[in-house]
Amino acid sequence: MTLLEACRYGEEQLRAAGVPEAKLDAWLLLEYVSGCSKSHYYAYQEEQLTEETRKRYLDALGQRSSRVPLQYITGAQEFMGHIFLVNENVLIPRQDTEILVEEALEYLKPGMRFLDLCTGSGCILLSLLLACPEAEGVGSDISPKALETAGKNRDRLMPAAELTESDLFAGLNGPFDLIVSNPPYIPRSELSGLMEEVRDYEPVSALDGHEDGLYFYRRIAEESPSYLVPGGRLYLEIGYDQGHSVPELLREAGFCEIEVKKDLSGLDRVVKGVYPGAGRTLRN
Ligand code: GLN
Repeated sequence: MTLLEACRYGEEQLRAAGVPEAKLDAWLLLEYVSGCSKSHYYAYQEEQLTEETRKRYLDALGQRSSRVPLQYITGAQEFMGHIFLVNENVLIPRQDTEILVEEALEYLKPGMRFLDLCTGSGCILLSLLLACPEAEGVGSDISPKALETAGKNRDRLMPAAELTESDLFAGLNGPFDLIVSNPPYIPRSELSGLMEEVRDYEPVSALDGHEDGLYFYRRIAEESPSYLVPGGRLYLEIGYDQGHSVPELLREAGFCEIEVKKDLSGLDRVVKGVYPGAGRTLRN
């Protein structure tokens, strides 16, 4: 099988399996198994794949045809310009989540201590620390397997980050200047309607927001004031239709200056709030 034949064959196979971006995914899988760059491909389309590469390619196409997400096959996803290792124990970092990181970066300053709840792959925690290395960052997750992956990303990207196994705040020591989180927020009744890739392969514990999707926001809104300095901030990623319910939860919990930020598609994506606490804002 030549490189050209491999590309065409892969595209056909994936298209027949109903994979949306068949041509692109076939190329990305070929690139992954062969290490072949686009320029090499165009110069040497008639080059034969080695037997080993051919086998690995067919195996990768088989997985993708069963709707395993591309990133779980290649083991990596880019986020905020960094490569994060991923596997079925962590949610694949989404571009939409970069909005949360960018918003947090406008506030985060050297010397501040921040917490990333439900850190998963560690993409939010580590991107924040890479952009603001003089901050102190703690990431927590309830899943030991997710933390193992976050640990690998930390060791590669930002060894100073601290990771802790914890059911939300249960095992954590405050206070923090900033708490960020992209918690599970899909209402349980909507889980079965998700794309096959998400529904069948991404960890349900990273998606399931219980009955109304708001379970974790409710707990975070209620518990975070005890872990924030006076004037500390809470930044949350939300689902497109949670731009009213989540701000309301924050208001009830005593947060002020609540704002909703939209993503690049114009959908509500991030909620920000300030906890006034007992005193005035410490840092601003
Ligand atoms: N914080 C991780 C991310 O944004 C994981 C989120 C989650 O597991 N819900 O990708």
